[in-house]
Amino acid sequence: MTVATVTKKDIRLLKRCAEISREARESGNTPFGCLLADEEGNILWEQGNVEITESACTGHAETKLMEEVSRRFSKEQLWNCTLYTTAEPCAMCSGAIYWGNVGRVVYGISEKALGELTGNHPQNPTLDLPCRDVFARGRKPIAVIGPVPEAAEGILAVHRGYWS
Ligand SMILES: [Zn+2]
Repeated sequence: MTVATVTKKDIRLLKRCAEISREARESGNTPFGCLLADEEGNILWEQGNVEITESACTGHAETKLMEEVSRRFSKEQLWNCTLYTTAEPCAMCSGAIYWGNVGRVVYGISEKALGELTGNHPQNPTLDLPCRDVFARGRKPIAVIGPVPEAAEGILAVHRGYWS
């Protein structure tokens, strides 16, 4: 999958993720947000990061979303959905997406770009492992699109001033 396959719908949903990440930051968590949408682009679940307010090391937005949607939808339904997220899923979240059986991932900024933002901040010691590499070790063809430059500015704006 290449960036060329990004649609207007994808960009609209990534912009919504940026709003979710702002809500997460405003609620005292790290500025990450994601959502799950069906094939028509209907939003099925929105999730911000909850690491800090829930004191949960697994409280990344994508892992939390996967926990919630796996209780509500079948694996067959989830395979036809797309998980949209502000920043590339980390190794833990990629694992949750894999086990939860979501078939497509669209992210705004790369893990590498995120790492440049967060540096050595103790709240986000990024794992420098692309989600494509995690999925490539699995047994199903999860499609990945990202980074998406058209959505990056709005996502980065929410991080501004947070990590310094
Ligand atoms: Zn994560």
